[in-house]
Amino acid sequence: MKINRSWEPAYAGATTFLKVPLVLEPSELAGADVVVMGAPVDDFVTYRPGARFGPRAIRTAYDGGSDPEMPHMDLGIDPFEVLTIFDHGDAEVVPGDGRAGHAAIGRMVDGILDAGAIPIVLGGDHSISYPDISAVAARYPSGGLAVVQFDTHADTATENWGVKESHGTPFRRLVDEGLIRGSRLVQIGLRGYWPYKEEFDWARAEGVRWHRMEEVIDRGIDAVIDDVLTDIEGAEAVWLSVDIDVLDPGFAPGTGTPEPGGMNTRELLRAVRRLALARGMAGMDVVEVSPPYDHADITAMAANRVVLEALSALALNRRGGPPMPQEPLA
Ligand code: MN
Ligand code: MN
Repeated sequence: MKINRSWEPAYAGATTFLKVPLVLEPSELAGADVVVMGAPVDDFVTYRPGARFGPRAIRTAYDGGSDPEMPHMDLGIDPFEVLTIFDHGDAEVVPGDGRAGHAAIGRMVDGILDAGAIPIVLGGDHSISYPDISAVAARYPSGGLAVVQFDTHADTATENWGVKESHGTPFRRLVDEGLIRGSRLVQIGLRGYWPYKEEFDWARAEGVRWHRMEEVIDRGIDAVIDDVLTDIEGAEAVWLSVDIDVLDPGFAPGTGTPEPGGMNTRELLRAVRRLALARGMAGMDVVEVSPPYDHADITAMAANRVVLEALSALALNRRGGPPMPQEPLA
């Protein structure tokens, strides 16, 4: 079932991502380059809830209408002209049963991969990275998938209050269960008062690399991303996992576990763009947008633009040519 009405403004009609066609049947995803889906699970947060409302807010956090014409001003390319992008709706989550939600998310990502498309998963709390990255990692059985995680928190606890599916654990689970290699996990933006020594010791032993926020401040985001590209050299493919709380709460107040002292939005957008330009991506998730705590849609708009940066970079890769265009629009 494909639904596309070409005349709708952003604030009317179906809430698909930037009004791209809604394609609910997995069999009709054939031919898509990129498929956006929602993973509205927030059963596993340790503090403020609300990320279940994230997908809807991210989808509509732009003022454009349907059949979008959106040439990226710096890259000189319109992702909606180059790529076939569908919205696959939301995973069939079950309120109060986050495990069922995780299973549904994994199945939905599988369907997108079967169609040969790149999944972009809108969260949801960060626990959803366990099912979505598991599904993608299975396509790289020799351990070739790298994961670049933007986050204040490492999310490498063994459990939180006894709950192993918590949003504080997905990257520990993925590595400990052998789904991704520790040496293929790179974290950017860590700050504040967790992880503890135990988690850092584990990360060191597993070969995880991390770049603390302090390093971003000292060296600048471009130098850090240069190093991240070295960190992930040799990987077959790259998954980007963007926890919006990597941003300073001034730039992303609408999130579950905010931590002062973070990145600004333009640093994150540039980092995502550079990574996607240099390495393409196996897919991405954007998580922890909690609209009830947001103000003036600041956080939802940041998440929306993170996706747009990635799409624009993928479009430029698809078209070919130089990594940065010689003919920007302005
Ligand atoms: Mn996280
Ligand atoms: Mn976080």
